[in-house]
Amino acid sequence: MHLPSSDALYSFLPTDVDGFRSLAALALDMHWSWNHCTDRLWRGLDPALWDRTHNPWIVLQTISRERLRECLSDRGFRKEVDELLRSNRAAMQAPAWFQRVHGNARLTCVAFFSMEFMLGEALPIYSGGLGNVAGDQLKAASDLGVPVIGVGLLYQRGYFRQTIGPDGAQQALYPYNDPGQLPITPVRDAKGEWVHVRLGLAGLPESLRAWQVQVGRVTLYLLDSNDASNFPAHRGITSELYGGDAELRLKQEVILGIGGWRLLLALGHAPEVCHLNEGHAALAVLERARSFMQVTARSFDAAFTTIRAGNLFTTHTAVAAGFDVFAPALVERTLGEYVTQSLGIPVRDVLALGRVDPANRDEPFNMAYLAMRGSGAVNGVSRLHAAVSRRLFRPLFPRWPEHEVPVGHVTNGVHVPAWDSPAADALWTGACGKGRWRHPTEGLEQHIRIVDDAALWQLRTSNRAMMIAYVRQRLVAERTAGAAPAEAIKAANQVCDTGTLTLGFARRFATYKRPNLLLHDAERLLRLLDDPERPMQLIIAGKAHPADGAGQALIGEWMRFLDRPGARGRVVFLSDYDVALAEHLVQGVDLWINTPRRPWEASGTSGMKVLVNGGLNLSELDGWWAEAYRPEVGWAIGDGNEHGDDPAWDAIEAEQLYEILEKQVAPEFYVRDQHGIPRAWVGRMRASMASLTPTYSANRSVREYTERHYLPAAAAYLARAAESGARGEELARRIRAIEENWSALRFDEMHVESTAEGHAFHVRIDLGELDPEHVRVELYADGANGSEPIRWQMSRAERHTGADSTYTYTARVTATRPASDYTPRISPKLDAAVPLEAGRILWQR
Ligand SMILES: *Cc1c(COP(=O)(O)O)cnc(C)c1O
Repeated sequence: MHLPSSDALYSFLPTDVDGFRSLAALALDMHWSWNHCTDRLWRGLDPALWDRTHNPWIVLQTISRERLRECLSDRGFRKEVDELLRSNRAAMQAPAWFQRVHGNARLTCVAFFSMEFMLGEALPIYSGGLGNVAGDQLKAASDLGVPVIGVGLLYQRGYFRQTIGPDGAQQALYPYNDPGQLPITPVRDAKGEWVHVRLGLAGLPESLRAWQVQVGRVTLYLLDSNDASNFPAHRGITSELYGGDAELRLKQEVILGIGGWRLLLALGHAPEVCHLNEGHAALAVLERARSFMQVTARSFDAAFTTIRAGNLFTTHTAVAAGFDVFAPALVERTLGEYVTQSLGIPVRDVLALGRVDPANRDEPFNMAYLAMRGSGAVNGVSRLHAAVSRRLFRPLFPRWPEHEVPVGHVTNGVHVPAWDSPAADALWTGACGKGRWRHPTEGLEQHIRIVDDAALWQLRTSNRAMMIAYVRQRLVAERTAGAAPAEAIKAANQVCDTGTLTLGFARRFATYKRPNLLLHDAERLLRLLDDPERPMQLIIAGKAHPADGAGQALIGEWMRFLDRPGARGRVVFLSDYDVALAEHLVQGVDLWINTPRRPWEASGTSGMKVLVNGGLNLSELDGWWAEAYRPEVGWAIGDGNEHGDDPAWDAIEAEQLYEILEKQVAPEFYVRDQHGIPRAWVGRMRASMASLTPTYSANRSVREYTERHYLPAAAAYLARAAESGARGEELARRIRAIEENWSALRFDEMHVESTAEGHAFHVRIDLGELDPEHVRVELYADGANGSEPIRWQMSRAERHTGADSTYTYTARVTATRPASDYTPRISPKLDAAVPLEAGRILWQR
């Protein structure tokens, strides 16, 4: 029998080689994904493997002991390793923005839950925009020192990978993510044992493995069900992101929400704030209540009311169909035991939290509704998206005016250092200094405004050339892997031209994004591309969900267009749109095109990634662009209104798109001065870089989340939680009293005295059993001509003699509007978010 050598058996990792641990510490901190200062090390160890994988952990595990020793014994290399480790540690321990500005705040931990995280190509557990926002916020939280901990799932096969077959059809593949090769480590307890979370619920995996990812100062925990001790059928539950049916999805969401919260507590964290990045993780609010009940012995109602103040829900979809909904029977089957045994309430009470009408037993269970009812604040991801969300969530707040539906907005931003090219980094460093993205960025604008035209144009030219080299290399690799004919591989190495105006269009191929809008008049597009004086070239990429036939058909349309002789070499479709490809595209393109149907792009982030690199945007007035666009920073299509999916309107916008490309974009790019510089184009670049980059950065969005949400949420939660939740219990009691007594509330008579000075309103109200301190009586008038509505507090004058629950309320308003414009109304008045937490309202008429 062959005995393995002791080397192979006991030293999976050459931990005994002096210096290896330092290298491992650097490789296992995804800080390298945006701070590129360790790239040189990894390339030094194995250039080919590093270039292919961009995963230092794979490099470290692959190279031989000999090679490792050889490198580490080189004094220069060793010194660099030690120096990097030392400076990284120092940077991570130095007080950052949060410690300096909010060092005394009672906020020690924000748990950030997301179904996906996009941190880099080395960790493929993302699909697209949602993961991008999550990953970039973790990176920015690290820069700013905001005490965030991420919670997500480890998918054995991630999201599908795309190839395009010879017939132009998308093929979905699911390569396996070997966890040993990912830059993650098992979470170990104080004794060194691998931490597992026990769910203990029938139908769900018994044991969840816990992993951790270091993202600078921030830790991201990942759970998976692929534990050998689990029932075999349960091991694959976390195998794919957005795969499988509703039942699988619900199980994943139980693992994320309930398992995730349980893991945090098991590790000794005590988050004041729980941030739900989309509704997928909404079950965390139930588990948070359960753990609070366990500690304080309060009822579910009291616990839920207490912890709600510390929860923030960020909604990311602009259509009701984007919410996860589950059949009541499925919820009951999956969670019935948990709800009755652990929460001690009937299942219908939990189902009610996910319904518009709690009493409607046929209504499915909506995770976004649960998230909303379980949170103390809710936000959309752009100003327009918040307005759309107020419409979507309005059914939960019957009789409230739409603008008072409690959804605010924090517009998304991107983590700039993760998306800038080396040349852009150098230019910004020259203008604004190092460390600029670790501090408030409001002052950067003025420094970029004074960078000269030649430097900006040089950035553009070199970035474009670098991207084209990457595009060729990637296309060659793609064709080689697909065993394409030799001449096709040779041609791949010659596509595009480094001096030509380059447009980029990469995104998920979903119909609402209209990835075929540019193809509306294919002949016209060909003429634009082929213009002898002012040619254009176009790089395209995007995946369509495997279940989305319509999206896949749009890919097919592009593949047919690519075959046209005029498109060859000028239009490139690169398969498998991923973070590496996105990074190169946003660095290199001159113009980023985005054509969603308004208002279905909640925010969009890809267009923000081009800003730092001097790329410009031509986009529908939707999502972030609807608030960022001004004529001097880029171009817009659409008229700022919604037109549904009207094909006639699509045609109008396609026409606008061609017109702008032909009449504005191409001339501005190709009209050069005697130095070969397009002055107008560069002027627009400067305006876009200077005024938009800082605003649409995750630096700004994470500071906004911190100051507008995390800090107040932590304070509100701690107040309710004090004395084992005494205030929370009291608040729950008041809210219950309002619910129980609301139907007895009645307006009696009202009279108005109008004079030239104003109107005096007197209204008599029978409060029934309600405490007058717990109601707010207001005069309300709709805004006139688009202005804000008027809300005028009425004051309680006297209790009516004889009737001990009847009061007169009065108010005086100026006579600028007729008295009939005003209606008295009553709503709850509590130390809580109204109407989010107490949604009753009564109008006098
Ligand atoms: C940025 C990014 C997205 C999101 O971009 P949108 O603007 O929302 O389309 C999706 N996928 C990848 C790989 C990205 O880098």
